[in-house]
Amino acid sequence: MSSTAVLQHLVLTVVVAQAACLPYSSPPSDPEIPVTAPEPGVPAWPAPLTAVTPLPLTLPKGFRRPKVVIDAGHGAYANTGPRSVFCELEEDFDLRIANDLGARLLTSKAFRVRLSRNGLARPSYQARAKTAAAWGAQALLSIHSDVRGPATLYDLQYGGPCYRQDAETGFAVLYADNADAPLNEQRQRLAVALALRLSEAGFAPYSGYDYQGIYEADPAAPGVFIDRHPRGQRIYMLNHTTLPAVVIETHQALSLPEASRWREEATLNAFAAAVAQGLVDAHTPEP
Ligand SMILES: [Zn+2]
Repeated sequence: MSSTAVLQHLVLTVVVAQAACLPYSSPPSDPEIPVTAPEPGVPAWPAPLTAVTPLPLTLPKGFRRPKVVIDAGHGAYANTGPRSVFCELEEDFDLRIANDLGARLLTSKAFRVRLSRNGLARPSYQARAKTAAAWGAQALLSIHSDVRGPATLYDLQYGGPCYRQDAETGFAVLYADNADAPLNEQRQRLAVALALRLSEAGFAPYSGYDYQGIYEADPAAPGVFIDRHPRGQRIYMLNHTTLPAVVIETHQALSLPEASRWREEATLNAFAAAVAQGLVDAHTPEP
């Protein structure tokens, strides 16, 4: 790579890192972090011919409909989130997916559902947490997409400049363990239940390659990570909520293949079904 190309690469990397959904660290090489490797010759999500499956919703006898808040990430003052490979602002993607998920959960009749952000409203994170607690919510799912790794300038046809990075795909479910028991255990149980069902549905868990120093992989399930940001930079909805709350990073928004899959009805349907069953699992008393 020429010196000019190196400089361009660094500039682009800085631009994307500054716009990232969550704080960045340098890509590490950590053998402790598991990397999901597909079998040779078997295409894995998000390859075009792979499929995600809508899991059937199974309710245990006597299941009582929990109160669930679906939080569309970002959309607060001066916090739009970064742009995807399609140049879509993350706050717009998050709102679209949160609305879709909320509607599907409501249709299942297994949950009482509220959205924390609607239309053009831009409530603060503090207000969202306070409203969820006042309602007596039993779970809060904050919907996001992620931008990971150094990216390159992509086609301008979507109104860019926007950036592309096809590696580091997959979902991540994030939680914080800064609370006392039983809230810590409830947060972890929710995160693990969701991640296991997402994997079962065919979504691939993120390896965590770019999370070094900011999230720690929870060995309880692939794709689950614990907030390890320095004090003052921790994720508000994870660390300052008094009910079990998780962030679902749905996918790598800079990946053209994965972002394309998230434009498909089948993806939204399978995602909602997996989340629904994960919520049921987390709210089913353990034997
Ligand atoms: Zn985000």
